[in-house]
Amino acid sequence: MTAKILDGKAIAAQQRQLVKAQIEKLERAPGLAVIRVGDNPASEVYVRNKRNACAEVGINSQAFELPANTSEDDLLELLDKLNNDDDMDGILVQLPLPDHINSDLVLERILPEKDIDGFHPYNIGRLALRMPLLRSCTPKGIMTLLAHTGIDLTGLDAVIIGQSNIVGRPMALELLAARCTITVCHSRTRNLQEKISNADIVVAAVGKPNFVKGEWIKPGAIVIDVGINRLENGKLVGDVEFEAACQRASWITPVPGGVGPMTVATLLENTLQAALFSN
Ligand code: NAP
Repeated sequence: MTAKILDGKAIAAQQRQLVKAQIEKLERAPGLAVIRVGDNPASEVYVRNKRNACAEVGINSQAFELPANTSEDDLLELLDKLNNDDDMDGILVQLPLPDHINSDLVLERILPEKDIDGFHPYNIGRLALRMPLLRSCTPKGIMTLLAHTGIDLTGLDAVIIGQSNIVGRPMALELLAARCTITVCHSRTRNLQEKISNADIVVAAVGKPNFVKGEWIKPGAIVIDVGINRLENGKLVGDVEFEAACQRASWITPVPGGVGPMTVATLLENTLQAALFSN
């Protein structure tokens, strides 16, 4: 079997067009505050990509570039100001934050209806109770990709590798809401290979290059590779051995060009959704 490619780049482009068309009908362009603290070079690239995508669809993004020594109190004060600013429909704090700032406290300070990343405990809780409002971007983007396969997900066995708050956990809630049977794996999981080889859907979010071996994939499984790993030679690879997995999977996401563009497109979708709360 040779897997069909789930082309996140193309699907994200379609999604951006849909968002753009809806924004054109609004009386006021949605506003998004994008906050970055410190000078992490990867964060700089992510923020630039997100702001370029905003510009493409007609979202007014405003950048807040704060020095690395910004105090937690000053950041919280800025969030309070933005929470009360009617021109700002969404607030994004680019992670990671410097060590002296408590990320949980910061993310919880954003009003849930402006939490377009979908990281606030309120929004995660709504998803857990099958009453989603703003959903975490990467898992929601993956659900859009899965919808493009046309496969009925009901009853499928899904294995998620990684239990982070921003990917693994909300991914498990999304797939559970879609009525999959889910197994969430992490660094203490036993018999990982066996679990993966029984899965109809594998979502890898570990952050280790080629961690999931192609031969572990069940023939016909859908493979979603969330990992973004840069090799010493500069090449970007995922968490899954792509070529070998292609020989067994029915569908697979490439890296780059799979989940990454969907995360950004979903962020735009969420900003539009937040703007519609107040329109
Ligand atoms: P993270 O917070 O570092 O979580 C990694 C997870 O992998 C943890 O739950 C960890 O388990 C688990 N893990 C580590 N070693 C393992 C092992 N040997 N066996 C099984 N599980 C193991 O990472 P993250 O923020 O979720 O991101 C994961 C990857 O996705 C990274 O490469 C990141 O760059 C990428 N990412 C991509 C996008 C996108 O849009 N494409 C978005 C977000 C993240 P423990 O919890 O037990 O430590």
